[in-house]
Amino acid sequence: DALGPTVCVGEILVEIVATTVGNGFLEAQPLVGPFASGAPAIFISQCGRLGGQAAMVGAVGDDDFGRVNTDRLARDGVDISAISIEPDYPTGSAFVRYRKDGSRDFVYNIATSAAARFGWSRGVADLIDRTGHLHVMGSALSVPSARAVIDKAVDIVKARGGTLSVDPNLRKELKLDEDTERRFAKLVAAADLLLPSGEELERAAGVEGEAEAIQRLFEMGVKEIVLKRGAGGATYFESGGDRIDAPAFVVQEVDPTGAGDCFGGAYLTCRRLGMSPQQALTYASAAGARNVTVLGPMEGAGTRGELDAFIASTERRP
Ligand code: ATP
Ligand code: MG
Repeated sequence: DALGPTVCVGEILVEIVATTVGNGFLEAQPLVGPFASGAPAIFISQCGRLGGQAAMVGAVGDDDFGRVNTDRLARDGVDISAISIEPDYPTGSAFVRYRKDGSRDFVYNIATSAAARFGWSRGVADLIDRTGHLHVMGSALSVPSARAVIDKAVDIVKARGGTLSVDPNLRKELKLDEDTERRFAKLVAAADLLLPSGEELERAAGVEGEAEAIQRLFEMGVKEIVLKRGAGGATYFESGGDRIDAPAFVVQEVDPTGAGDCFGGAYLTCRRLGMSPQQALTYASAAGARNVTVLGPMEGAGTRGELDAFIASTERRP
């Protein structure tokens, strides 16, 4: 894109996954990993794999968990020049074990890891000054250092005619303090593209009911909304009432983590490459569905060729 790359700001982690189903980590337990992870990193990996210009802002430690991530993103074609390497903190991590009902137990190290240590730097400033599109996850607002970078970056990117996408990514019950809540509402209102999942739609709008929430968000200033519904598919909404429903592809779910981030990265990249909402929805649905068929949060992110092959060979739900 002539205006510059898509940039994502936020946490970079490794994920280590229990290979058995059950509760927590109170006993020795076989594990598999480290896998490159962190919602913003998954999003930008999918952008890079699809051939969009992409860059990441964040931090890792000077350790192998960090190198798993930077090597991976570089291989995907992502510009990693604004990922800082923090010598005094380990790379962020998440241990995850699935319970029988599909819910998850986590042991996180994010707040006290390198993932939460990045700030505004010369390298970040140079990148943001040539950014065409910024993608922000609501969850990043709970990290103070990320918040400062995001605030500054949104203003700069918007002022130079760039665009913003937001994945609200906040559970409905999660109460933020007043200041963070205000920042969140401002971010949502500034979004050219909003990518909520399930009840995050109502959380972002601050009203109950799908139709009411959609209408409220357009009134707030959002330009385009795509609602993710897991195996139920996704819906594109346009102010003025037009909508497109995209059925999900039929797949065997191995690991649901990262579906929404791959979906969002693919949708945004396709739109920036000039595709219609309909076509972008097809690629995004394929990216989300393909990713859940592979173990590891971003291991199933697909290239254009891989997604074309997936679309040609996979049935959609009626
Ligand atoms: P995450 O669970 O990673 O936070 P999310 O909740 O933001 O993701 P989802 O709605 O779970 O997002 O997934 C995004 C999209 O990926 C869906 O709209 C759908 O198109 C596709 N998808 C997700 N899970 C499946 C599945 N089991 N089968 C087919 N498609 C899926
Ligand atoms: Mg989900």
